[in-house]
Amino acid sequence: MAPTSLSKQSPIVIVGAGAFGLSSALYLAQAGYTNVTVFDKQPYDKNAYSTADGADAASADFNKVMRMSYGDEIDYQRLAWDAIQIWDVWNKQLSASAAQDLPAGLKPSDKLWDNCGFLRMSTDGGLSAFEHSTLRNITREGLRSTQFVIGDEDDEKRAPFYFREGEWEKKKDPFHRQKKGESLAGVFDTTAGYVDASKACAWVMHLCRQSGVQFVLGEKDGQVSSFIKSPTGKKTVGIKTVAGKEHRSEFLILAAGPWTPYLFPAVSSLMETTVGSVAYFQLPPKNKAPHLWERFSPENFPVFAYGGWTKGLGIGGFPRTADGIVKIGYRGVKYTNYEDVEEKTTGTKHRISVPKTKYWPEPSEPAITRQAVEAIKSVVREALPELAELGIAGCRNCWYTDTLDTDFVVDRVPGDDGMMICSGGSGHGFKFLPVLGREVVKIVETPTERSAIAKRWRWRTKASGPRNGLEEGESGPRNWKKQEMARPEDWKFDMRAKL
Ligand SMILES: Cc1cc2nc3c(=O)[nH]c(=O)nc-3n(C[C@H](O)[C@H](O)[C@H](O)COP(=O)(O)OP(=O)(O)OC[C@H]3O[C@@H](n4cnc5c(N)ncnc54)[C@H](O)[C@@H]3O)c2cc1C
Repeated sequence: MAPTSLSKQSPIVIVGAGAFGLSSALYLAQAGYTNVTVFDKQPYDKNAYSTADGADAASADFNKVMRMSYGDEIDYQRLAWDAIQIWDVWNKQLSASAAQDLPAGLKPSDKLWDNCGFLRMSTDGGLSAFEHSTLRNITREGLRSTQFVIGDEDDEKRAPFYFREGEWEKKKDPFHRQKKGESLAGVFDTTAGYVDASKACAWVMHLCRQSGVQFVLGEKDGQVSSFIKSPTGKKTVGIKTVAGKEHRSEFLILAAGPWTPYLFPAVSSLMETTVGSVAYFQLPPKNKAPHLWERFSPENFPVFAYGGWTKGLGIGGFPRTADGIVKIGYRGVKYTNYEDVEEKTTGTKHRISVPKTKYWPEPSEPAITRQAVEAIKSVVREALPELAELGIAGCRNCWYTDTLDTDFVVDRVPGDDGMMICSGGSGHGFKFLPVLGREVVKIVETPTERSAIAKRWRWRTKASGPRNGLEEGESGPRNWKKQEMARPEDWKFDMRAKL
């Protein structure tokens, strides 16, 4: 059942040009919808999703983990597997493109994704229930040979035939645990790696434009301030921008990432804006420290989760970027930021968690919590002492939306035929950039015939009991305002703490 009035020529407005909005736009255009316009407050045509040039969306980043290991959640595993196939195709298409045909920020020599592998390193010598479920489900799909369990006799025997000479030794023990007499256990997923998030967004915007999608970008023309309602007040029929201009839609997809609850607070019952903390380590110039550039290169160093995926402090990291930056993230605690928000469309007041980025609502110096810095430092000190010597060079608060069960939300707003929410990435949405829109189109066109994964993305409620922290609200322990913030002097390492 398509929305009754929606034809292939109907004006469709998408709010947000992050992973969710871009993928939706691409697949809608490819399905023949000829009047798709994406609005974003960021001038992505100018800054090419560069975080150094003001981009602060979750999707604008150096790197994100691409993994298909999803424990017992086989639907996400399958979706990730589909995504990997398209990431491969996009890499090939980009390298075959002529430089002059590419938008700012992209070169044919860029790689949108790097299949460097993902190591989930156990620090207690055993594998978690998550790892066992993942292995079961990957085996079920006939892909067990893509996984290497460290210390498993069969996997160790076949490793020399799979990896380049010396690669397995480096990638299974990047923390030199064996040399230190520590346990060596974990799983290495060879299908995984990282995606260059900012470049991937610039690429998909390019594909969208080639397919006829229009973009309206920038603080005034691209920033949506309110929604226009039908005379009955029931249906969304367009948007108003900060510039004061109205744009009519027959169908609107709200894909504003962590700003989704801010723009449309009714979603707060099923999603909350939270923040993950990230620290950067800058390697010295390549000619001064070639051994570090070599050691942390994607050829020698994997994406990692230290202490496993569901256990430990929640620390994970990436190989160095082309600029010599090693990013390490902390997802042990995701913080909330409660503020008074007035819903512009209705004038109703709400108290909800909203983003506070380096650039929004006004420019501010980024500071991550002391708890996050201490967690990152403790792992770096123990496992990557070369980085400890460098100290932390910078940090970022990366805002996203967490749902009550970490499943995304891709569904119409109950009672409103003109609006759909497409958000709730819950810290794992980016990898699906190549396939999310495929599901969105199916949901738009046949909302009652959902795939297994799309069934999980319905508008839903869970009024009582644990709701992934949403039940805590402002009084909960994750409230950012209750945290002590790290100061730049906390970024340095006191190596005596190692003793
Ligand atoms: C610290 C961190 C680590 C993560 N790690 C991973 C990972 O390893 N792997 C993975 O797959 N995923 C990861 N994620 C999750 C992933 O980044 C998100 O799921 C995904 O990027 C969300 O995309 P989005 O389009 O919903 O939101 P966003 O990327 O935030 O995009 C929302 C867009 O809406 C725009 N917007 C907001 N308000 C307005 C307005 N009023 N008018 C117009 N436009 C507006 C914004 O400018 C922005 O461009 C991580 C997220 C974080 C924060």
